[in-house]
Amino acid sequence: MPNGGVAYFSAEFGLDESLPIYSGGLGILAGDHIKAAADLNIPLTGVGIFYKKGYFQQQINENGWQQQRYPDVNLEASVYPVQLAKDAEGRPIIIEVTIAGRPVYAKAWYVSLGSVTLYLLSTDVEANSESDRQLTDNLYPSNQDARISQEMLLGIGGARLLAALGIKPDVWHMNEGHSAFLAFERIRMLSAEGVSFETALEAVKASTVFTTHTPVPAGHDVFSIEMIDRYLGDYYWQMGADRDRVLALGQLDGAFNMTRLAVSSSSKVNGVSKLHGEVTRELFHRWMPHIPIQDIPVDSVTNGVHIGTWLADGMKKLYDQHLVSDWAIRTQEVDIWASVREIPATELWKEHKKAKSEMVQELGLPLTAFGEEPLIIGFARRFATYKRALLIFSDLDRLARILGDAQRPVCLIFAGKAHPADEPGKDLIRRIVELSREDRFKGRVHIVENYAMDKAKKLVQGVDVWLNTPVKPMEASGTSGQKAALNGVLNCSVLDGWWVEGYNGRNGWAIDGVTDGGSDEQTRQDSETLYRLLEDEIVPLYYKRGERAIPTEWVNMMKESIVSLTPVYNTHRMVTDYWNRIYVPATERGKRFRADNFEVASRVGAYKRFIRDNWSAVHVNKVEILDNHSSRIGLNKTAFIAKIDLGPIWHKDVRVEAVGSDGRRGIWRAKLELVQQLSKGLYVYEGVSPEIPIDVWRSNVNVRVTPISPDFANDFEMELATWG
Ligand SMILES: *Cc1c(COP(=O)(O)O)cnc(C)c1O
Repeated sequence: MPNGGVAYFSAEFGLDESLPIYSGGLGILAGDHIKAAADLNIPLTGVGIFYKKGYFQQQINENGWQQQRYPDVNLEASVYPVQLAKDAEGRPIIIEVTIAGRPVYAKAWYVSLGSVTLYLLSTDVEANSESDRQLTDNLYPSNQDARISQEMLLGIGGARLLAALGIKPDVWHMNEGHSAFLAFERIRMLSAEGVSFETALEAVKASTVFTTHTPVPAGHDVFSIEMIDRYLGDYYWQMGADRDRVLALGQLDGAFNMTRLAVSSSSKVNGVSKLHGEVTRELFHRWMPHIPIQDIPVDSVTNGVHIGTWLADGMKKLYDQHLVSDWAIRTQEVDIWASVREIPATELWKEHKKAKSEMVQELGLPLTAFGEEPLIIGFARRFATYKRALLIFSDLDRLARILGDAQRPVCLIFAGKAHPADEPGKDLIRRIVELSREDRFKGRVHIVENYAMDKAKKLVQGVDVWLNTPVKPMEASGTSGQKAALNGVLNCSVLDGWWVEGYNGRNGWAIDGVTDGGSDEQTRQDSETLYRLLEDEIVPLYYKRGERAIPTEWVNMMKESIVSLTPVYNTHRMVTDYWNRIYVPATERGKRFRADNFEVASRVGAYKRFIRDNWSAVHVNKVEILDNHSSRIGLNKTAFIAKIDLGPIWHKDVRVEAVGSDGRRGIWRAKLELVQQLSKGLYVYEGVSPEIPIDVWRSNVNVRVTPISPDFANDFEMELATWG
């Protein structure tokens, strides 16, 4: 493996059902990400954990309760050859991580996919105590000690493994905050080379990027300060800093937050859909209330899925016949997909029906009782309560009428696992089982056990409608609907996550709540919309048959869905976006910060320290807002005059601006120019009014001072701002 490239850290990777080291969307996304990187020949090294017992196998017992079984992962059965990483002499590479004062050893398995290698750490080595050998048995242990140990192994152990392999990545990508301790280890390594903490932190930040996936605070990993001291206390001095400075990187509300650490140690943060980017800005705004939501430096790259993994064979053949021959490596080209419109409706419908009957057969669904082809609606994902699996059961009588129409039968299929510690999640499964046994739902409501990639493929290829009813805005992106779309399956979804961007009014159905949140009123509205869509649009359209019993309008909608969604919501587009917007700039930035013995990193570190130490001297002393636009000579639209005290900070190191609400959801900013120095550190700034109506900008305006530097990755890199 050559030097450079991207190191992609994730707590889970979903490559294939035969390698069950993923629990849900995050892992599948990571798997699809690295497959696309391999397709695009991007040099990338994945780092994760080899969970010996994988994610559990689910059985649902007589009473509807989920049972978990934990068999060892069968490496022989894996469709990807999994091998042990060895050194030049052929000995297994063993790395060591000190966890709570004791040495823990780990080996690494690896999987090769062209330009990508995925390394998976395992503590199942002889040198470890029995309990440490089991440290990597399961995903997401509920026990906090097990959890922090795994995260130390992933972040710190992962960075050590790359060093042991001689891999020096240009960019370090943290997929979620679980791996954020990698920043500690990279700082420690630099410190061991004699680089100061401040410089090392800047060098690490410059080359690290972070993707957040969790729109709610409760979803972020948090450890007590006492735990951090106990587990990572040895690290503080090795990083060349005192305890407070290290803890400050992750401290939030009296605890240590892994998302906070990830943000502090990266130069680029992104959410996974446009809406999720906004929600993340709102979330981070709570940590930095002095920075308006709109200014919080969070970008977004909307998720996609790996077409080669999720596309049904029959549909692939159809695309091979009707699209350009090399469509599979040009999936992000919008024009290519327009040819789908030329596929004869009979052929597209035939392939869809084939996928449907294959699903029915392979999942053992007893649906044949309803004649040839009932309308089948699928709902499959983790059983987390925010996903509201029971929304469609809000009004049982009404649902029974919809499903039970003898002329137009409708079936519902559910699948998904609940986290073993999630009792409310397990209760959702139990309730669906219970309902499926009621006479009026018998044969019409089914639940498929042990949801994993194999079942997911069959479902996203074989149902007619893919239903998604999360509490908005809690579905950061969602990807299963994208898998459905590329197979010609139509989405019916709450306008949340990716669907806000994907829905165009013609390519599926939207449940567009008036208000956000999970209130009873919202649930009532959303279920009402869903029933109305089913009764008035979805069921009638499906059963509106034309020539040769083909639902022509439905098929046209399938085409619209494929044409409008597939070129955008695939991982080739997504990884290309990461490459252009995130990896390339971070590579350049990292190199620049490291060059000439860390010259830029050292300068930025020293600069930040100076600013931080002196920022309390910065004051906006007085702001005058002039009604009369022509009162000043020279600036005939002068609107703001501000007296600013900068203390020892140089005026070129700050930006002074008037900031206000634009009356909608946005803000406006008007730069103020230095016009006069009154005395040492005391300045007068002036600016002109923004180009929006005076009553709007007058109503809510203030003057803000922020530290700036051409070396900062964004305008709020220091998270500092002083207001008038
Ligand atoms: C795609 C996928 C998910 C994610 O589904 P969402 O609807 O995005 O939550 C979860 N589990 C499996 C097995 C998947 O294939």
